Amino acid sequence: MQVLSFFIRDLTPEVLTVEYSARFQIPGFQILGLPAPEIQEARERIISAFQASELDFPKKRVLINLAPASIRKSGTGHDLAIALRILSGSGALLLDSRVIARGELGLDGLIKPGGKMGHLIELMLKSIPDPEQLTLILGPEDHAEFLRLLSWREKNGLLNPKPAGVLRIEHLRDLPASVSSRSSTQCSSLPKSSHQSSMSPPFLLPLAPLQERILKIACVGRHHTLLLGPKGAGKSASLAWFGALAPSPPKGAAWERALYQETRNEHPGFDAPLRQVHSQVRPAHLLGSFHSGSFRAGELSLAHGGMLFADEFPEWPRDSKECLREPLQSECFSVSSVRGTLQAKCDLQLIGSGNLCPCGGLPHRFRLDAVQRGPGCRCSEAEIRKYLHRLSGPILDRIDLWAIFSGPGSPSPPKNTSFEQIENEIRQARSLVEHVHGAPPSRIPPERIERWIPKSSRAISILSETGSLRDRHKLIRIACSIAALEGRETPGDPDLLEARTYRRTDAFL
Ligand SMILES: [Zn+2]
Repeated sequence: MQVLSFFIRDLTPEVLTVEYSARFQIPGFQILGLPAPEIQEARERIISAFQASELDFPKKRVLINLAPASIRKSGTGHDLAIALRILSGSGALLLDSRVIARGELGLDGLIKPGGKMGHLIELMLKSIPDPEQLTLILGPEDHAEFLRLLSWREKNGLLNPKPAGVLRIEHLRDLPASVSSRSSTQCSSLPKSSHQSSMSPPFLLPLAPLQERILKIACVGRHHTLLLGPKGAGKSASLAWFGALAPSPPKGAAWERALYQETRNEHPGFDAPLRQVHSQVRPAHLLGSFHSGSFRAGELSLAHGGMLFADEFPEWPRDSKECLREPLQSECFSVSSVRGTLQAKCDLQLIGSGNLCPCGGLPHRFRLDAVQRGPGCRCSEAEIRKYLHRLSGPILDRIDLWAIFSGPGSPSPPKNTSFEQIENEIRQARSLVEHVHGAPPSRIPPERIERWIPKSSRAISILSETGSLRDRHKLIRIACSIAALEGRETPGDPDLLEARTYRRTDAFL
């Protein structure tokens, strides 16, 4: 008989065994094994919960050891496991198998969520031998969450653990009777998931021609995109359409992200994530950080499998922009702690937006002398130069598409476009690129991208003007997306020429 719980070390769940000893000494209660203050406080919660449940707390010196004792543990989810081990140790209930218990005890004996059910599933799949001999004891909310996660995994064809049973306990006083009778829920009778996408896009989108083109190319190729323009140019609306047209996340990515969400105590969701980040964001907020020894995922990991909207991107602090270099390049990044380096994944599409000057009034195709700027902008030439200079450098190079929208009164005003029509075009082009490349064009590996260069002297001449190998590969990738939108597998010269117009810094720098 074993009572287990688990703790999360970096991103990996680890088994924790609750050991019990009682001596005939002055009554007392001590918890060993590097417990954090909230685990120390469990002593008071457990004693009060025993009293409220009319259960006898042993009149001995009780020692609880959380093994392995050399690693620091935190969280309040171990209360139920400790209470269960005391009950079984004192003979109040009989356990004949291994049990994982998870839940926080209230002073009145009610069981509250202990959380991290996704990590519990990971633990059972990867670290616990013979999970089918294991019984889970969970509070009502954790029980519902566990079944919801299992149901989602089943629906998405992922492997599920097969525990001997899952017991739902509402109050500590029910524990002895429930464990003895084992009225457990079998995992085969799981409720079906009610997960549905809640996105209900409008029927018509007011889109300017460039806005529509960029939206389609970026959605087909999953290209990182930067939308620039004055106030009222439709940047915010574009972000909303990007969200509405987001593809469903890959199965594995959705599950990995659910585990990242648990590190932030967020309820795991499986829709394509759309995370929005404000302009004063710090690198720790993007990459994640360590709190009391445990990892708290950042916005990049929480956007894994979906999109990250970077509002007012030119105004981001330089170090926050710079820290995106590795994640945008390799879809994963490392965070260092005293114990070593942790790898987190972030397969995301970055959609940035921003103005062309600090006041946001500067229209496209401006000239820096004040007469040509018009009445909309109050900024000085030096302020505009400084503002636009923030966009230069390696981070801009890692963004595929740079689109500059015209403001109100532009020669090509927005016209209403059918959402269904755009969605259909994108869906068809996505299935074409999936068939040809096996991935969105922005994710074609460098060793395979060169084969898609059009065999013409024009193409060779366009590509010879590129500043770096990365720039060259990005042009070919964008051309692949444009070709797919036109229903062609192979890009041609016009696609490459169009791709080049979306990567020209001379338009704004
Ligand atoms: Zn201005």
